[in-house]
Amino acid sequence: MKRETLNRKARIRYVAVLILFSTALFVVAPPQAQGYNQEVKTAALAPIGVTMSPIRSRWTVAQEASGYWGIIGEMVIKNTSASTVSIKLARLSVVSSNDSVIAEALYKKRKQFAEMLMVVYQKTSGEVALRPAGTSSLEPGDTAFLLLASAAEKTHTPAEAKVQVRFKDGSSLSNEVELTTFDAGQRMQWPLQFSGGNWLALNTASGFGEHRKAIFPVDDEFFISQRFAIDTVQIDARNRTSNPPNSPRKEDYFAFGEAIMSTGEGTVVAVVKDQPDQEIGAADAENPGGNYIVIQHAPHLYSFYAHMQRDSAQVEVGESVSAGQLLGRVGNSGSSSEPHLHIHFMDNWDGLSPVLSLFTSQGVPALFWNAKVIRGPQTYLLNGTSPIDFDVITNP
Ligand SMILES: [Zn+2]
Repeated sequence: MKRETLNRKARIRYVAVLILFSTALFVVAPPQAQGYNQEVKTAALAPIGVTMSPIRSRWTVAQEASGYWGIIGEMVIKNTSASTVSIKLARLSVVSSNDSVIAEALYKKRKQFAEMLMVVYQKTSGEVALRPAGTSSLEPGDTAFLLLASAAEKTHTPAEAKVQVRFKDGSSLSNEVELTTFDAGQRMQWPLQFSGGNWLALNTASGFGEHRKAIFPVDDEFFISQRFAIDTVQIDARNRTSNPPNSPRKEDYFAFGEAIMSTGEGTVVAVVKDQPDQEIGAADAENPGGNYIVIQHAPHLYSFYAHMQRDSAQVEVGESVSAGQLLGRVGNSGSSSEPHLHIHFMDNWDGLSPVLSLFTSQGVPALFWNAKVIRGPQTYLLNGTSPIDFDVITNP
């Protein structure tokens, strides 16, 4: 794919920057004996006791800045049989409404599996753990998560995803998932200003970073609230994020203290502002989001701003906000490797407890208007589209 090639080139320039929202979220429900059989769609050649189903029965798709459709989704494979099954290959085929294949992704190498396949098991203590990266075999009782991604040219609208998994014993499973075009319903704006510098987009849905891997189980359902999250750092003309470079002081980072504005109009539903800003190298895994604000824009659309500066929040729960209204300042609270803004959009906020509210929603695409993206020699307007990894976001 064109955009992946561009990504790889850009990656070399920005290899020093790595930011995680949280690595403490690999929590997966223990496998339970239940009626899995209804989930099996393809009876022929299906391995007995092994099932596959999508996380979400419909996947939302949106265009990235250059106009390419980004198609991402996840499957859950459960091995409830008494034998080990080994995945040989996984294939994502994206079809348009007239059933022609418009994009495809094939995963069969160990290196690919290390990125997009997570196999989890339950220890005898009951604790759930990840098998080593690159594992493509499911022992009895194991659950695997497949993270899938492809991109389709803008001339064809994606209508359906077909996922096929073939096992080494010759058996296979397949599923079809409806694709729906995402519409935020209002023109969300980029939440940061450009007067102090441009912003680099990292850990977006175009890659297989930690955001997509933050899978949270509730009973037999899985949630990925950060699926489409973006981490962004402010950079100078030399693509540095601090002066001096790699400074041990959080105050030396260009992003630190920058204004965060609401992406759109809505109502404030959550504000946390008492968390300390971490020194560089420290991280609070217990409170990964640190100080954060959540705005409800529509019945099933919320924006979430994390790692804010302590006591910088300018709004209160219940308050109405307008697009562009000052919410607070970029900080380094929570689980953050350097000052940055983590932003994502999600479909739910139950308000019951911080953990449940943060993680029991599904992430929806982050689309912005009124900004420009620089990608290598190209520039694109963000007009209802999203940035991808290593895009530089600037004033239109
Ligand atoms: Zn993040």
